[in-house]
Amino acid sequence: MVSRGCQSTLQVPLCPAHRERCHLRTVKKAGPNKGRQFYTCPRAEGPAGQRESNCGYFQWQSDRIAQLKRKAASEAKA
Ligand SMILES: [Zn+2]
Repeated sequence: MVSRGCQSTLQVPLCPAHRERCHLRTVKKAGPNKGRQFYTCPRAEGPAGQRESNCGYFQWQSDRIAQLKRKAASEAKA
């Protein structure tokens, strides 16, 4: 397993419903997004409407990075 870059220093988002650190996963399905990484709710999927089960939170890691960069840029300006 090779881990490169600043992934470990990257701030992991919290899923809004549970306030828990999201899991970083990789798209395994063949297609245009194969190999892309994304954050999801850490809970296991369960019956719909159950507060304890996966809330369906999803965010691409690249979107997350872009968001953090924008935030850092706006903070640097202030
Ligand atoms: Zn959640």
